[in-house]
Amino acid sequence: MTSDVNSPYQDLSVIRENLDRGTYSCRELTETLLSRIDLHDSNINAFITLSRDEALAGADAQDALIARGEAGPLTGIPIAHKDIFCTEGVKTSAGSRMLDNFTAPYSATVVERLEAAGCVTLGKTNLDEFAMGSSNENSFYGPVKNPWATSHVPGGSSGGSAAAVAAGFCPVSTGTDTGGSIRQPASMCGVTGIKPTYGRVSRWGMIAFASSLDQAGVFARSARDAAVLLSAMTGADPRDSTCINEPAADLTRELNTPLSGLRVGIPEQYMSDLDSQMSDRMADALREMEQAGATLIDISLPHTRYAVPAYYVIAPAECSTNLSRYDGVRFGYRCEDPADIEDLYKRSRSEAFGDEVKQRILVGTFTLSAGYYDAYYHKAQQIRRLIHQDFDAAFNSVDVIAAPTCPGTAFQLGEKISDNIAMYLQDIYTIPVNLAGLPGLSMPVGQIDDLPVGMQLIGRYLDEARLLGAAHQFQQRTDWHLAQPTLKHTTGASDV
Ligand code: GLN
Repeated sequence: MTSDVNSPYQDLSVIRENLDRGTYSCRELTETLLSRIDLHDSNINAFITLSRDEALAGADAQDALIARGEAGPLTGIPIAHKDIFCTEGVKTSAGSRMLDNFTAPYSATVVERLEAAGCVTLGKTNLDEFAMGSSNENSFYGPVKNPWATSHVPGGSSGGSAAAVAAGFCPVSTGTDTGGSIRQPASMCGVTGIKPTYGRVSRWGMIAFASSLDQAGVFARSARDAAVLLSAMTGADPRDSTCINEPAADLTRELNTPLSGLRVGIPEQYMSDLDSQMSDRMADALREMEQAGATLIDISLPHTRYAVPAYYVIAPAECSTNLSRYDGVRFGYRCEDPADIEDLYKRSRSEAFGDEVKQRILVGTFTLSAGYYDAYYHKAQQIRRLIHQDFDAAFNSVDVIAAPTCPGTAFQLGEKISDNIAMYLQDIYTIPVNLAGLPGLSMPVGQIDDLPVGMQLIGRYLDEARLLGAAHQFQQRTDWHLAQPTLKHTTGASDV
């Protein structure tokens, strides 16, 4: 166990032990991470806002608790939040010019709960505008760079949160996943990410994109750490009526369950189009699970190919209604010198939304309009039901489903930005899971050309503990999750 505060890649349990033993204080750890961010984030751009003073004050408060012997599993753990979670008194931008001037008057339930559990918020991470994107190139604050290769994207939309963990800026972070925005960047940045069941975590204070799909989750360097963090976020919240009415869950409870006897479904539709390198990485990971006693079972999810088209009707429809609140009147961006109210609406929205967001609002408004609703929106909802039924049928014979998280590794910045279809197809393996409301996890299982490859585990409704347990057992046998990128200083010198 390392006791060096300067070692940037420490497990939560190691950090906790060092804090309790007094090897270093929470203030020292926080200062060390803030310095690391100062040194490297000009190359990565993971953060939109660093809340330095609040973080140091929070660290002192946690040090006081530790000194009194009142520490819990998250006391003094530094964290970063995707800048889509409202944080009281701190700018909350959603990656948009629209909210560049917005300071949240209250904190999201997720933020509140993690702070109450002892986490210290370092800052807010970069994202695609209003979480719309798969590469983090749609941010008003510029793209995030992948810590493994700064010429490449980190994935999106929670690219800043994934990159921050991969770069050793913080041991854990939060994200949101509407169509893959936790799992896809986790895969591309070589970290573990989990999107829980829809409704497992409260959406209160999480800026809405597509409300029937949006779900909060976490990034960590291991399934164990993800389980500890996610557990603290769960539990009923009267302020979100879609939040499941159950007490907080202990999602660490299956970490020690062996893989033997686990029935792992392999969907043919997720494997058939992979290139040979991706196929090989999947085969290696599945062999490892098989050697640990899991049984691999071929399954079919026949409606998979309709998931992306259905998503790109449903998500824009919900986005067009959710984003109608940004009118230049109540909060957010307001254009200069409006001639009248209509000019105010039009120019505020035209000047402050980026191209991807505008395109989705237009598509969503169109598909919801009279005459088109049945042809598009209603049809997309029917497809959603079929996709849900595919999963229900598969889970009659398997316990979890294993598949690639993405079609490939991180792509180059600019490579897909002008090709919407190519970009949207990045989410082909993640979107069905959101449409069905199921939990999904991505974990690193190898590399191709020095870039991480992720494998996705999809579970039954509310079966996060089993996914985390299976991933933890895999991580006990392999060390892909321990691989670290080499960060370059702006001067060109490298540092781990
Ligand atoms: N890439 C998908 C999109 O652009 C998913 C985004 C997300 O999960 N927030 O809609």
